[in-house]
Amino acid sequence: MNKILLQGIPYDDKSSFLKGVSLAPPIIREKFWSTSSNTFSESHIDIGNYIDDAGDTKISDYFEIEKITRLHLENNKRILTLGGDHSITYPIIKAYSKFYNSFDVLHIDAHPDLYDELDGDKYSHACPFARIMEEKLIDQLIQVGIRTWTAHQIEQAHKYTVAISEMKNFNINDIPEPKNDVFISLDMDVFDPAFAPGVSHHEPGGLTSRQVISIIQNIKTRIIGADIVEYNPKRDVQGITATLAAKMMKEILSQMLVKE
Ligand code: MN
Ligand code: MN
Repeated sequence: MNKILLQGIPYDDKSSFLKGVSLAPPIIREKFWSTSSNTFSESHIDIGNYIDDAGDTKISDYFEIEKITRLHLENNKRILTLGGDHSITYPIIKAYSKFYNSFDVLHIDAHPDLYDELDGDKYSHACPFARIMEEKLIDQLIQVGIRTWTAHQIEQAHKYTVAISEMKNFNINDIPEPKNDVFISLDMDVFDPAFAPGVSHHEPGGLTSRQVISIIQNIKTRIIGADIVEYNPKRDVQGITATLAAKMMKEILSQMLVKE
């Protein structure tokens, strides 16, 4: 099994409501390596042996995120990114599209993030999937956990033929399956706030930790990359959300390793 590159993007400039997510990457790492647990995944792999950590890159200009991701993809074909706000996914996917011809994105989030623009910014953390779809960077967008829409976002989802599993009729056996290689974009606010209070946008009625882990473990195609975004340490309680983000990092890396 080849090592997977870990990159931290402590970037918070595109958050629309609260700041704090730029503090996330070192805290998630600390929980990952904490002796309170160990680094084995549920698939019995010692994940700690398969991480090539590129550290955190301070970003001053949004478009640097694409450059640093491209550089890292040249060194290692698969990356797990710790964000940062969700705006980072668009430049990351743009970098991936230079290396991979055809892939799907499994976007796990309370929000569709399909706004054409928010507060005059087309690159807001509420917009990354509108940019990805309008530039046709991926084959298929699959969204899971969605539970808050505006009429505009529903229109956008139709326009871009997004495959959606809405929270109101959630059934884990009925999630649209990726057909191609897949990139996972995990927004920590997809979890019910009871499981993950450390996010900027609490949206009740979400998924349990177990459900999201099962969604990841049920993916059948190859996982070429992932990001874990929107963890806000300023809103966390006793590190509950950081520990969950580290657990998700472990299980996502594990599935990337077993399906290379
Ligand atoms: Mn999001
Ligand atoms: Mn969200």
